[in-house]
Amino acid sequence: MDTKAFKRSLQQSENYNRKGFGHQAEVATQLQSEYQSNLIQQIRDRNYTLEQGDVTIYLAQAFGFCWGVERAVAMAYETRQHFPSDRIWITNEIIHNPSVNQRMQEMEVQFIPMVAGQKDFSVVGNEDVVILPAFGASVQEMQILHDKGCKIVDTTCPWVSKVWNTVEKHKKVDYTSIIHGKYKHEETVATSSFAGKYLIVLNMREAEYVSNYILNGGDREEFLQKFAKACSPGFDPDTDLERVGIANQTTMLKGETEQIGKLLERTMMQKYGPTEINAHFQSFNTICDATQERQDAMLELVEQNLDLMIVIGGFNSSNTTQLQQIAFERGIPSYHIDSVERLKSEKLIEHRQLTGDIVTTDNWLPDGKIAVGITSGASTPDKVVEDVIERIFALKATVLAL
Ligand code: SF4
Repeated sequence: MDTKAFKRSLQQSENYNRKGFGHQAEVATQLQSEYQSNLIQQIRDRNYTLEQGDVTIYLAQAFGFCWGVERAVAMAYETRQHFPSDRIWITNEIIHNPSVNQRMQEMEVQFIPMVAGQKDFSVVGNEDVVILPAFGASVQEMQILHDKGCKIVDTTCPWVSKVWNTVEKHKKVDYTSIIHGKYKHEETVATSSFAGKYLIVLNMREAEYVSNYILNGGDREEFLQKFAKACSPGFDPDTDLERVGIANQTTMLKGETEQIGKLLERTMMQKYGPTEINAHFQSFNTICDATQERQDAMLELVEQNLDLMIVIGGFNSSNTTQLQQIAFERGIPSYHIDSVERLKSEKLIEHRQLTGDIVTTDNWLPDGKIAVGITSGASTPDKVVEDVIERIFALKATVLAL
């Protein structure tokens, strides 16, 4: 499919909207009351710290809702307001946050149901409205919806669209896109649908494997098996790694994306020589500012003398997991939770480990004076962060009173 031509025709369609409906002011007030927090504003005003009883909270200087997420949520609210009685669907969670998605359901914005592991678009009628979430949708999904003639409200973050443009450029010059991301993540699924040839690498270890294959060859079958779910159909590592360009899932660790880019640049330089590098490698600039700012703020925060870290965000939120990884690598006791309900008591906390397992840990809240670092992923409203801070204060106060 000529994905570029398809996108052009979609964007010219009268059923397509990516700018909202002019209800920004009303929606802003509603969002403010549902998601903002006075306490968090106070902490910001006090240089991102707050002391109460035995607890000192250190908040990351950049955390929570990024503008892309705020924009997507606001557009979803506007859509409901603009089409008060139409059936509204969304192709995926609008963002990776349980409370926001719950709110969508209360507003009768329904998820496209899954049948046998596939989305069942047969439920969508041509009079319906369908929202595409912040991390986008695959070109195939967009085509199904466009063909149905339903109204499409596209909240895809412009940073994600920028990555799609990058892989389109690779495709135009017949380069393979090496995408740093998780092959199952909706954003990467969408990005790869716009790419020509592509290979998705999860981390440096996988990138090193690819680099080694480029330089020294290797076991072709093993390669294909390893990346069976993470490459374009018919991918041939012996011929499709001669010209490569880099792209990424916008929420991966920035430093790691850069390292992968540098590694592949060095690899191509070593294989083809410095004068030929431009014929074999295209660099990139697709790291989202918001992800970068949150990761930089986290790196600063973990320099404090912290007794523990709480990282708040959806359990399927990639950018939250990256923040958790930073704390983990520093050896700080760190708990990734998605809502205040995970703080079961002053003794017990339920949290997600980097492995994806959800476990319960005993004695998570140390005795005496404690310094607690707090951050949250790009899809977490300030209200959720406020609830967590209030609960930590309350739990410590209970211990003091005992
Ligand atoms: S994290 Fe970045 S790319 Fe993702 S929605 Fe936010 S601003 Fe957009």
